[in-house]
Amino acid sequence: MTKILVIEDERAIRSNLLKLLSAEGFETIGADSGYSGVQLAQQELPDLIICDILMPGLDGYGVLKALHQDSATATIPFIFLTAKADRSDLRQGMSLGADDYLTKPFSRAEVLEAIAVRLQKQRLQTQRHTLELKKTEALMSYLIRYDRLTNLPNRFLLQERFNELLTQVKADSQRLPILCLSLEPLNHLNNTLGPANGDLLTQAVAERLTSCVRKGDTIAQVGTEQFALLLASIHENEQVVKIAQTLLSAFSSPFHLGIHEILLTARIGIAWFGRDGRDLDTLIKHASAAMEDAKQPGKTPYQFYISSIGAKSQEALLLEQEMRQALERGEFQLYYQPKVNLLTEQIEGAEALARWYHPKRGLVSPSEFIPLAEKTGLIVPLGEWVLKTACIQARAWQDAGFYPLRIAVNLSGHQFSQPHLGSLVVDILRETGLDPSYLELELTESSLMQNPEAAIATLQELKALGIRISIDDFGTGYSSLSYLSQFPFDVLKIDRSFVCQLTEDAKNTTITTAILQMAHGLNLKVVAEGVETSNQLAFLQGHQCDEIQGYWFSPPVSAEIFSELLSSGKGLSLLSNSG
Ligand code: C2E
Ligand code: MG
Ligand code: MG
Repeated sequence: MTKILVIEDERAIRSNLLKLLSAEGFETIGADSGYSGVQLAQQELPDLIICDILMPGLDGYGVLKALHQDSATATIPFIFLTAKADRSDLRQGMSLGADDYLTKPFSRAEVLEAIAVRLQKQRLQTQRHTLELKKTEALMSYLIRYDRLTNLPNRFLLQERFNELLTQVKADSQRLPILCLSLEPLNHLNNTLGPANGDLLTQAVAERLTSCVRKGDTIAQVGTEQFALLLASIHENEQVVKIAQTLLSAFSSPFHLGIHEILLTARIGIAWFGRDGRDLDTLIKHASAAMEDAKQPGKTPYQFYISSIGAKSQEALLLEQEMRQALERGEFQLYYQPKVNLLTEQIEGAEALARWYHPKRGLVSPSEFIPLAEKTGLIVPLGEWVLKTACIQARAWQDAGFYPLRIAVNLSGHQFSQPHLGSLVVDILRETGLDPSYLELELTESSLMQNPEAAIATLQELKALGIRISIDDFGTGYSSLSYLSQFPFDVLKIDRSFVCQLTEDAKNTTITTAILQMAHGLNLKVVAEGVETSNQLAFLQGHQCDEIQGYWFSPPVSAEIFSELLSSGKGLSLLSNSG
């Protein structure tokens, strides 16, 4: 029922008006002064107020001002009652915010019409208000739930959809998969393509992703190159695998952006609600760990989470903390593995290989801590330490009167892209007094391919100093010799994986022979890594390989043992004669 407040000090007028309004079916309240009127309005929040202007104490203008100061009463339609139709009176009332006025004496029809018009206007206003409010709400709701660039749901909406799905998944009877997808190197490309192209690529990626899933599914971007997928109504491993394969094949073709052809590498990790976690954060963490696992060489590009992966990543976290302290505590050490010249049959060089003697774990393998050091950036101080220590050692052997050896040091991708690598190397050589011709730097293909043009420039700078440059683990990366011929290498190291099956596997034999021929054609020396048997050695000798390195001659050893090896004058002939 519509509630009307009448504020009027003249009793007769007030009761007449109240009677008239009740007879028309309105709920009515009366107040005999401005003060009590304001109070009643605040208590009762009427739908409309009719108020006399001329009253002792607080007059009609005062009432209107008071009501406008309170947001609860400010919008109540307000009709003035005035005895004289004085224009200035009315103008003042209207300018204070009154909606209409009635002059006394007024007829029943006049009162009812004024009320009807006011209420109708108020209703329309309320409707418009509600509509605007709804629009704003919808916009806000969108803004807090979706990414503006890609239109993909964000983490917030993902959480909502997850909560929704949980109400459908009864306890443990149904399973719900969470997928984490990484697209590399999206982040790097975003930085190098420039903001406009970066945005276009991200949008194209979002479109391709959306085309792979069904309507009820949710894809959210949860990192710069990581997405999370919530798949409704999928409960079996086989179904998830199918979707993973769809996603992988969707990203197997490149994106075309102007002149750029961009291929992204997709990797997927999968976690199940219930088995692998019960809250979204844990599930994403576990799916993400499985995704990291899928990035390992030789692994299927999608992996289900298994609890041992989590344990491993916990372990990696601890290892990372400990590695930071290890450098200061001097827990790292260098081992040296001889490289033997197949013509002279003498040790001609040594590769320095880092070792970490962990106080509790014992020896930690470089294949475990080097990738971690790369990821955390610790490789920079560690690599500097390796380079310096190796140069000091090489110089020490020379000073001790041994045949001058060439010392080889491995450089990782991160180190190689350091801006002042050249001057760092120069400083270390100067400091340690080692002639540049006795230093060799080993690089892998992948570390060069991150930025080939810059790599060529850096290599040329290093080579100009007189340093030898090797391509390490050849055969495991791009392995396009014609492409690699643009790089100023001196040495090619054939990866152990070819050498180890040399004499058993016909294919490896063919490849190794071809690599040897092509490398020699490009004027490169060839070193075979991981030579373990005399058969392998014989094959390599027969095919004009220049140097070998491997357990057959010696594993990597400490500097002391290496010194003994040098003192003993151990060479190939000595070994083959005795063996
Ligand atoms: P890499 O540069 O290819 O080094 C050769 C690896 O093969 C060494 O492993 C060596 O011990 C191993 N090896 C040598 N001969 C044989 C053999 O006959 N049979 C078998 N099965 N293995 C053999 P290690 O020392 O575990 O190092 C692994 C990798 O870690 C290295 O591969 C290198 O990429 C990296 N690394 C080691 N030290 C450093 C370092 O100081 N800096 C950087 N950036 N990377 C390093
Ligand atoms: Mg190496
Ligand atoms: Mg190698």
